[in-house]
Amino acid sequence: MCQSFGNQHFYYTSCLMNCMFDCEYCYLQGMYPSANPVVFVNLEEIFEETKRLLTIHPVYLCISYDSDLLAMEKILSYCAHWLTFTAGQKDLCIELRTKCGYNPNFLSVLDVAKKLPENILLSLKQRFIFAFTLSLDLIQKTLEHNTGSLLARLKAAKTVSLAGFPVRICLDPLIYVPEYKTAYKALIDLIKQNLLPEQIKDISLGTFRVSKEYLKRMRKQRPYSFVLQFPYELNHGVFSYPKSIEQELIHTVLDAFDGYLPTSKFYLWENAY
Ligand code: SF4
Repeated sequence: MCQSFGNQHFYYTSCLMNCMFDCEYCYLQGMYPSANPVVFVNLEEIFEETKRLLTIHPVYLCISYDSDLLAMEKILSYCAHWLTFTAGQKDLCIELRTKCGYNPNFLSVLDVAKKLPENILLSLKQRFIFAFTLSLDLIQKTLEHNTGSLLARLKAAKTVSLAGFPVRICLDPLIYVPEYKTAYKALIDLIKQNLLPEQIKDISLGTFRVSKEYLKRMRKQRPYSFVLQFPYELNHGVFSYPKSIEQELIHTVLDAFDGYLPTSKFYLWENAY
């Protein structure tokens, strides 16, 4: 289900289970029996394990799956800890994914970076990726409860990019809505207005998909959610849109970018079935 972005040694770690945000399509509702957040306080041990892996090979590590780590930054400061740790590990590349908008949490992490020696900071800026999930305005407002607005996320992406860090745009999950062509075109136009091509490291694209067992539980919890009650197709234990809709959504987005970025910068999650 995860996009490796071509990295051979792809890992993800969950220092925090569950999320402050509440996206109606989030698989966490089907994965955990409770919505209570669980924080792993043995961060030092996670760092030690990462160092052990680094003695074997370079590591590409996503630290904000199964949660939105940055949303809890004010309480945990885990993003800042990861940033400082990563600064000292030259073969470690981090992806920090978020649906936060521009807020003090970003600034506090960037402030920690500013205090690093220049040569270390330069290396870190190649290896600490801020990934922003961007959704249709309509989807953010109706399904992604408590998350940063679309404009606030774009402002955050711009701020991070101006600070010199790589920005990844995640258009994942793409959601099928009426008028999806005009809606996604408007979203891509907004991205183009806010970020120059050179400010975007890469873009991931993927349509909504979720395992059969998770969706069963999610549907029970949200019987009136249009995104969960859609008649998805089941293939090999995974529910997703029919192939024709998947292709439509992906091509609509790619067409809307219309050469704004080289194709090598796009990573597609494709249904393997
Ligand atoms: S921000 Fe991500 S992890 Fe959090 S509820 Fe939304 S989809 Fe789930």
